[in-house]
Amino acid sequence: MKNAIFPGSFDPFTLGHLDIVKKSEKIFDKIVIGIGENDSKKPLFSIEKRKKIIEKIFKKNKKIIVKDYNCLTVDFCKINNLRFIIRGLRNSSDFQKEKELALMNEALDKSIITLFLPCSKKYSIISSSLVKELILKKGEFNKFVPKEILDELKSF
Ligand code: ADP
Repeated sequence: MKNAIFPGSFDPFTLGHLDIVKKSEKIFDKIVIGIGENDSKKPLFSIEKRKKIIEKIFKKNKKIIVKDYNCLTVDFCKINNLRFIIRGLRNSSDFQKEKELALMNEALDKSIITLFLPCSKKYSIISSSLVKELILKKGEFNKFVPKEILDELKSF
């Protein structure tokens, strides 16, 4: 069994994230979507709400498990017996940032391997922070998120 975690803030979960999960499914038997709080970002949705939305998106998919955590990702991996960390790349600045993070995680635990997956070109402009701003400022965000986010925002 090859198990991996796809960690992130997912506030909100976007079509870019979905693209990375779909690619990861071709490689892994089980993928934990791990929602971690990013203290430097003011949340749009609570962790509980994000978890519910992502569970809805993948409700028919037995390979996907959604969990939240507030410890280090490598510690979460150890506790849950996950050996791979998946991260998505949009551009070279993502790569610089992600490489530092991957090297730090490797220094903390060299048995855990980070795997970078590039997103498809059409998703490379999507970021949760821009989508969040579009939502808060009533811009056009529909084409960047799964329908489950649109459903949730009807009652926003
Ligand atoms: P974090 O706060 O950990 O960066 P995000 O939810 O912003 O959390 O991102 C989680 C992961 O998804 C990161 O690896 C990020 O690079 C990746 N990601 C974000 N947006 C996209 C996208 N449009 N296409 C591919 N990967 C993405």
